Amino acid sequence: MTLRFFMLFGIISAVLLIVCIVRSSMSKRPISKPVTGLLLCVLVVVVGNIFIAVTASEKLAYVGYMLYLTGTDVMFYFFAHFCCEYCEISFKKTWSQYFIMSIVILDFFSVIVNPMFHHVFVLEKIEVTDGLYYSLVSNAFHYVHLAINYILALFCFAIILKSAIKSSHLVASKYWMIIILFVIVAIWESYYIFSKEPIDSSVIGYTIMAIIIYYYAVQYSPFRLRDRMLSEVMVKLEDGIVFYNIDDKCTYVNDSALDILGEEEENKEMFGNALLGIINDEGYIREDEYECSRIYTGSGIEKYLTLSWHRMYDNQQKHIGSYISIHDRTLEEHKMKEQIYKSTHDNLTGIYNMEFFCTQVRRRLEDNPDREYTMVVSDICEFKLVNDVFGHDAGDSILIQIADFLRKYCIEDDVYGRLSNDRFALLMPTSDYSDKKFLDLTVVDPPKVMGNEHHPIYIQMGVYMNVDKDLSAYQMIDRAFMALHSIKGDMAQKLAYYNDDIRNSTIWQQSICASLKDAITAGDIVPYLQAQIDSQGKMRGAEVLVRWNHKTEGFLPPGKFIPVLEEQGLIIQVDKFMWRSACEILRRWTDKGDYNTYLSVNISPRDFYFVDLLETFSSLIKEYDLHPSRLRLEITESAVMADKNSRFRVMKKLRESGFILEMDDFGSGYSSLNMLKEMPIDVLKLDMVFLRESENMARSRDIIESMVSLAHKLDLSVINEGVETQEQVEFLKTIGTEMFQGYYYCRPLSVDEFELKYDM
Ligand code: C2E
Ligand code: MG
Ligand code: MG
Repeated sequence: MTLRFFMLFGIISAVLLIVCIVRSSMSKRPISKPVTGLLLCVLVVVVGNIFIAVTASEKLAYVGYMLYLTGTDVMFYFFAHFCCEYCEISFKKTWSQYFIMSIVILDFFSVIVNPMFHHVFVLEKIEVTDGLYYSLVSNAFHYVHLAINYILALFCFAIILKSAIKSSHLVASKYWMIIILFVIVAIWESYYIFSKEPIDSSVIGYTIMAIIIYYYAVQYSPFRLRDRMLSEVMVKLEDGIVFYNIDDKCTYVNDSALDILGEEEENKEMFGNALLGIINDEGYIREDEYECSRIYTGSGIEKYLTLSWHRMYDNQQKHIGSYISIHDRTLEEHKMKEQIYKSTHDNLTGIYNMEFFCTQVRRRLEDNPDREYTMVVSDICEFKLVNDVFGHDAGDSILIQIADFLRKYCIEDDVYGRLSNDRFALLMPTSDYSDKKFLDLTVVDPPKVMGNEHHPIYIQMGVYMNVDKDLSAYQMIDRAFMALHSIKGDMAQKLAYYNDDIRNSTIWQQSICASLKDAITAGDIVPYLQAQIDSQGKMRGAEVLVRWNHKTEGFLPPGKFIPVLEEQGLIIQVDKFMWRSACEILRRWTDKGDYNTYLSVNISPRDFYFVDLLETFSSLIKEYDLHPSRLRLEITESAVMADKNSRFRVMKKLRESGFILEMDDFGSGYSSLNMLKEMPIDVLKLDMVFLRESENMARSRDIIESMVSLAHKLDLSVINEGVETQEQVEFLKTIGTEMFQGYYYCRPLSVDEFELKYDM
């Protein structure tokens, strides 16, 4: 190669390199930093070589060689840095960086100090065809320099080769390009070394390689790769994509679009047009983009879709087509519907829940301001007992039956729902209401799950006719329930209508409950005693009966306030007070020397829920130092029915502790002779109520006689309560009854009156 040619080439290279350096330094890609460094170094090497080629001065040639050698040192450093970045291998702050940097710096200084020691090279003047030329004569450290350069070159080559082998052929081309250049430059360089040519023409190779590296690393974006990636994304995309050409003809449909719409590839044109039709219908007036939500039923399956249409342009803003992206919201929509359904409907029966029923009631009333409506609520009698005796499945099946009935019975204008547990509500136009319809409903046949046992389920209803539309739905329900409460416990009554009396009674009940606590502390609630007399006419004990001297209502008999307190769960407060009062009285009598007279206290069925009876009575007896047999406990049969096994357990323990248990009101309610033999009791209190009420006296007497004899057979003693006439007493004596309680002997008396009368 002639010097002139080399010089010309050098200048062109320098210019090209400067352009690349400027552009690379402006690039924001991270790799542009090592590339800029690399280009700068190659520029230094080229400039060095130009000096070598053009100068006749030995000094300038010396500087040229210095630039050339130091330039290649730093060039290899940047090349290593570039290769690592290019192959995505960490370089900065790694051992490789520190090692390469150290050897490069050492060699750099070795070259710098060459003018002093000449350990790297000296110059030799050579004549060539077109002029003078200073050639490099290697000393020992030049070989060290070359060795370092070759080691670094090999390191870079290995990195690039490894990445080329590992990566996909679509990506590998960027590595192979550099490998090929690498090999060419290496061959060129080797040729220079072995041919002993004076001018290092491999610099040309460096330049070309640097520029191509710059192009690949900083400028090049692999279109083939990008296109491949885009088409891959398009195929894998969950959303459907449909492309249209400028004539709105469908040209491409991805797999997801086919899946979403449940269509076949061959129908793509047809449904492509159908989709575009939807966009058109929705009012796309040749705008650039449009989005709409639609239910698509093209293939017979209902799909909730969000369609977005976009018009596409090229660089010159010329229309090149459009596409529709299809987002399938069917699953989300179903989930949302399910959630809404769950939050508005009752899980078990599938009809409206309380909140949604109330919302719908409000809506119905507002939509029909001129129509009168009636609110009906229902409650199953003793539903807890049904669950307890027949199991929860049976209970659930009754509730489902009621909901099914409502579904069948109700017409469009009715609103119905399950409010809670066994409570249902129905709002209907008053004109459609007739009590006959409901009376049929009040006895539900026992569901099959209950087997053959005949246990009809009674339902009671409260009706609030012509609801006041200014009230909230909750208040309307409350009023219907007030009516229902007025007949609660009376199974013979099935329907009750709300009226002002019921409202007043509810208000009265609320005031009674509210004043209870104060009444107890103020001493308005007091025990009365009714004597129990033996067949010789001797008083043996007394029943403790509560009385309330109400501040405003006057004297209240228990029948008036006890059911109210029982329902509100407040009876326990009264009972605890009565039990304690009984103990106080017994203590006083004992202190006066009476160790025998006993007192019977009443236990409400509700008390079992609120206190541990064994614990309560045991500690009372202990506190007042009394024998347990002097505090008799009266329990009604209905108290035991609710949860037979656990109640029997408590009763047995009470008996074992020495208390005497009396079965109260036997014969007045739903007495079962069957229960009698299992019941852990000592005394049977036979209520004379049906001797009083019966028309067939002879028959009633026979029943009483057999009951007394049965009780005796079961080792129970009998107290006849409600004895009113001498005739009754005489009859009862003939059949062997030993104890009596009733107006015939004595009405309930205040404690003072009682003590005075019986000289206590
Ligand atoms: P009970 O336990 O069966 O009490 C007997 C009821 O019969 C008493 O009514 C008593 O006054 C009444 N009586 C007594 N002899 C006759 C008679 O010859 N003829 C008629 N017709 N009635 C008679 P009272 O005091 O009105 O109590 C009614 C019910 O209230 C009681 O029935 C009892 O179940 C309940 N009760 C009374 N005091 C309490 C109490 O402190 N706690 C609880 N939980 N209930 C109580
Ligand atoms: Mg009693
Ligand atoms: Mg009684």
